[in-house]
Amino acid sequence: DKMVYFDLGELVRYSSQFMNPRCVIEKISVKMQIPNKNIIMYGVPEQINQVLLNIMNNAIEALTEIDDHRKIDITLESSNNLATITISNNGKRIPQHLVENIFQPFVSTKELGTGLGLSVCKQIIEKHQGEIYITTNDKETSFSLKMRT
Ligand code: ADP
Ligand code: MG
Repeated sequence: DKMVYFDLGELVRYSSQFMNPRCVIEKISVKMQIPNKNIIMYGVPEQINQVLLNIMNNAIEALTEIDDHRKIDITLESSNNLATITISNNGKRIPQHLVENIFQPFVSTKELGTGLGLSVCKQIIEKHQGEIYITTNDKETSFSLKMRT
């Protein structure tokens, strides 16, 4: 996999297709907001795809812990050569004491979790000179990626 120029909106759409079948089965409503313009970045699209899939997987797993009104919101925005992708869900919260360590390897609350997903995401995003961070409130958990375009 090599560095190429690619359209982030196209990649976000592509990545989210992988989770659609599970979202139908788990009754998760997915909302996607992608601007009607090309947002071109330079990087390894296969790796950014892997990051998006990891974050979406975690969102689905958090949502299966709640009973109804399961939602995932995906937004892509860009301005001043900076693209931001945000993936939010209203599922089970991360325990507050884990929030600051969530990108460390082997931090997991799942019985069969490896705790590697988010640490790999952070490595990939930092290799792309981007940033990844989490925000939480009492309604939802969001992961955001910021990358140069
Ligand atoms: P794993 O999924 O194997 O546990 P990750 O690195 O992907 O490892 O995630 C680490 C931990 O972060 C998870 O066990 C979970 O507690 C928490 N987490 C990650 N994403 C979410 C999310 N969207 N909502 C709630 N908790 C999350
Ligand atoms: Mg995971």
